[in-house]
Formats: sequence, structure tokens, C-alpha cells
Amino acid sequence: MPVPTHKNDPSNPTRRRLLQAAALTLAAAACPLPLLAAAPRSRLILLGTAGGPTPKPNRAAPAQAIVVDGVIYVIDCGNGVARQMVLAELKLDAIRNVFITHQHSDHNADYGNLLWLAWAATLKTRVDTWGPPPLKEMTRLFLAMNDSDIQTRIADEGRPPLAPLIVPHELTTAGVVMQDERVKVTAALVQHPPVVPSFAYRFDCPDRSIVISGDTRPSDNLITLAHNADVLVHEVMYMPALDRLIASEPDAKHLREHLLASHTSAEQVGRVATAAGVKTLVLSHFVPGGLPAISDETWRDAVRPHFKGKLVIGRDLLEL
Ligand SMILES: [Zn+2]
Ligand SMILES: [Zn+2]
Repeated sequence: MPVPTHKNDPSNPTRRRLLQAAALTLAAAACPLPLLAAAPRSRLILLGTAGGPTPKPNRAAPAQAIVVDGVIYVIDCGNGVARQMVLAELKLDAIRNVFITHQHSDHNADYGNLLWLAWAATLKTRVDTWGPPPLKEMTRLFLAMNDSDIQTRIADEGRPPLAPLIVPHELTTAGVVMQDERVKVTAALVQHPPVVPSFAYRFDCPDRSIVISGDTRPSDNLITLAHNADVLVHEVMYMPALDRLIASEPDAKHLREHLLASHTSAEQVGRVATAAGVKTLVLSHFVPGGLPAISDETWRDAVRPHFKGKLVIGRDLLEL
């Protein structure tokens, strides 16, 4: 005849299961990763990855989105940025801040268009924009140029006035640009002659730090800004292919000198990322970035000898 077990006796099957569950809960509490790892709070989406002012068939113009808790921060507004956001399934009315690294057309061509098109969709809230002068005048002139459509949609579709929603801030010096409850954004001056000032931006998010280089030659200020960052998105050019391209240009020597004075080669990108001590290096703003496409392996082989961390060859709509 079986001996009845008391409910507090450890040999009681129900009691044993409860003890095992309690032990698992305690083990999980003492071991935060990976058992209890929270979902990442920030998303980085490469919206466009080609460098240079001419439209390319295989890569869109430079732009990135960082999303934290559903709020979108856009960095650079190359041609087609609004459509790239739609393709990435990002909500245009979730844009709260736009950052322009420098006033070159591949980075600002759709600055006004992004906000105008977002407003024509569903944007009804304030957007702060940040970048070098003449950002305020660009904003004012853009709104004036498109006033006919804007007034028509206000009257016809009941949209709120657009001008009060866009609040431009001109940046001329390095330092903390803005901070809210989700991110702190810090700018560094980079070297991209003849465009002055040109900025790189660092986003300290709740879960990680992300640095966007903008356009620059190898920059000590950028290395300092990106110190120990989790992710560095850096512009890159591949000199052997460029040498072949510019050999056909009448002023090839001048063009080559310009590129080297204001941009960063693949080898140099690797050294910059190593000097900064970043964990992940993401290549973007590819030059040349059109067709014939340079293979991922070629980019990887050029950078790899100079950087031992995680290396990502960027492509449009890639999310990290
Ligand atoms: Zn550029
Ligand atoms: Zn540029």
C-alpha cells in the first residue's frame, strides 16, 4: 500500500514540480543574457547606399533611418528618400527629426520633398530639422516654391498648415545637437572640402550607439566621435575601379586629387574603424556605386586586412 505524501514533502510530485519551476526562475534571474535579453529598441535602416550626385540603377541616394520606440530619425535626404521609406515599410508620419550631414545634392536633394510628401500623406506633427546653413533659407524657399500645392491641400483636404510643422536648426559647431527621452545626438566636424561645415552624427540609443560618417576624408574628429561605438556607418570608395573610370576623364588628375582630399578609400575606412574601436563597421555611400557593380567580396577584401570586427557591406533597405 503506497505511503501518502504530505503536500510539503519534497517527494510529493506536485511539490517537486513547483520547486523545479522556482529553481528555473532563480537561475534565469541570475543569468540575464541571453535568457532574459530584451528585444532591441533601436532599428537602423539603410535607405540609400550610393555615393555621388547622379542617380544609379542599382543603389538609391544616401539616406538612413534610425527608429527608436517607433519614432523615426532620418539622416540625409538623398533623391527618393520618401519612397525608400515606404519600401522599408516605415511610417512617414513617425518622422520627428531630420539630420543633414552636409549641403551636397546627394544628401539634401529631397530634404524638402520628404517633409512635403510625408505631410501630403499623414504627417500632422512637428518635425525638427538639423544641418549646416543655409538650412533655414532652404526650408523657407522650399515652402514658398510649393505654396500653391500646399494651400490647395490645406483648403481641399483639410490638412494643417505645413510651415509651422517644420522647425529648422542650423548647426555650425560640434557638440550635442539634441537629446530627447530616446536618443542623444552628437555632431563632429569632418573634413569634406570644399563643403564647410560637414558633420558626422552619433546616436546614443537606449540599447546601442550608432555613428553616421557623412562624407569625409579620414577624420580624427570622426574617430573620436565613434570611440567604442557599436555601429559605424562609413562612406567608402574603391580606388582601383575609380582609377579605371577617371582614366577616361580629360581632367583625371584633378578629379582623383579631389576624391582623395574629401573621401575615404576602403583601406582607410578599415583603419578608421580600428582606430575608433567600433564593434561593427557598415560600408555605405559606395563610390563608384553604379553599374557595373563592384562585388561584395571586392569591398570586403579591400577592408578586411585593416579591420577585424564585424564587417557589413551595405545595401538599400538593409536593416541592422
Ligand atoms: Zn555624398
Ligand atoms: Zn559630399
